[in-house]
Amino acid sequence: MPVMNPQGPALQALLQAMDNAARGAERPAARLLAVSKTQPAQAVAALASLGQRAFGENYVAEAVAKIVALRELNLEWHLIGHLQSNKSREAAEHFDWVQSLDRPKLVDALSRHRADDGPPLNILIQVNPDGEAGKSGCAPEQIGELARMVDAAPRLRLRGLMAIPEPTPDFQQRRRTFRQLRAWFDQLREEFPAIDTLSMGMSEDYRLAIEEGATMVRVGSALFGPRT
Ligand SMILES: *Cc1c(COP(=O)(O)O)cnc(C)c1O
Repeated sequence: MPVMNPQGPALQALLQAMDNAARGAERPAARLLAVSKTQPAQAVAALASLGQRAFGENYVAEAVAKIVALRELNLEWHLIGHLQSNKSREAAEHFDWVQSLDRPKLVDALSRHRADDGPPLNILIQVNPDGEAGKSGCAPEQIGELARMVDAAPRLRLRGLMAIPEPTPDFQQRRRTFRQLRAWFDQLREEFPAIDTLSMGMSEDYRLAIEEGATMVRVGSALFGPRT
């Protein structure tokens, strides 16, 4: 039976738009993280059959069910939602990346629970770039300190930064925030030359983010349709 690929045209259009944004701004191509929260495992499998490898999830329990169900596909799984300390063991055991590390306590918890005999857990430090109250992410002044902790922790590999700008309708403001994030990323890379990932931009603003130097965009609804 042929695999149905309802997201096929959306994926092709998205990859094309990402390439155009990068080319127009004379930037290297960005990677696509397909955000599959609330989507069933079959939707992930359908997109995987089109060549998409990296998937992002917000909730540990929901993600683990899909990771286990799709084990044979060898996909790359990224945790992008807020991580509670009591979920860090499961996160360290099942994900390939955690993009939402935003406080010292998680460094030790993830490091301790990551298996010795496999690859290190890739880590992005989540920043709260616009100082929004009640939002996940560390303050910009804490980036360096957290990065040094991650870098020193066994079984963790520091890869860069992740952020969600304030969802304002003012896209000039979003652009300024993306530009500021790129500056913080470049500054961090002076101390840690091996970092390679700046994860920013979602369905509404991934083009802007790529123009301002995102190396990875996280796209859900533009790919799978609106979440119900
Ligand atoms: C849901 C989510 C996304 C994707 O959002 P869309 O607007 O559907 O593209 C990206 N990043 C994070 C952290 C999310 O929670």
